[in-house]
Amino acid sequence: MRIILVEDEPDLGAAIKRTLHQEAYVVDWAQDGDEAWGYLESQWTEYSLGILDWLLPGVSGLELCKRLRKRNNSMPVLMLTAKDRMEDKVAGLDAGADDYLVKPFGMAELLARLRALQRRSPQIQSQQLHFGNFTLDYGTRTLGFQDAAGQPQVISLTNKEFQLLEYFIRHPNQIVTRDQLLNQLWELGAEPASNVVAAQMRLLRRKLQEKGYDQLIETVYGLGYRFNPTER
Ligand code: CA
Repeated sequence: MRIILVEDEPDLGAAIKRTLHQEAYVVDWAQDGDEAWGYLESQWTEYSLGILDWLLPGVSGLELCKRLRKRNNSMPVLMLTAKDRMEDKVAGLDAGADDYLVKPFGMAELLARLRALQRRSPQIQSQQLHFGNFTLDYGTRTLGFQDAAGQPQVISLTNKEFQLLEYFIRHPNQIVTRDQLLNQLWELGAEPASNVVAAQMRLLRRKLQEKGYDQLIETVYGLGYRFNPTER
């Protein structure tokens, strides 16, 4: 799941990003409102959630939220702010924010609020993604399924493997290119090595192959990969 984080305080932004990484979110962190709007315009449909600080250099978080809603973007938005007066909360919610977190806050509370937003969002599956015989579980970061004998099996996934599989499940039977995966699952400005996608894909496919799923994700020569939910 990809999140845009807009926070101009370096220490807080870094701490939030670190926390979200541990939860397997992909995070693009913008440190001012104009940079954030650039991300939002170029990656328009790809963010599942936004965490917007209210007071920012350049465009404010409140204004970002208004612009999103004006363009009918319904991405769930959590506003962060030191303001705690009632009228400010009302202004934030009127601008289209879904929830409101007053600084200072603990990371456990931030994560709980994000989970709550995910549960309420029709765009986002809550705790599990189901496809065919499989269940991808966000809580345990595992892929569960029944084997040929009807016995439950579980594959533990790293964060990146989990993100890859989630992306494939959301794009079944389509050719997915390496560039697409790099753009969606690696963060902007991270400049990963060009073979990083292939390397991660090898690891993921090896785990699937060990359980007998050789063709679940097939290589489409010269193009990329295709997820075939019905193939063994
Ligand atoms: Ca701020």
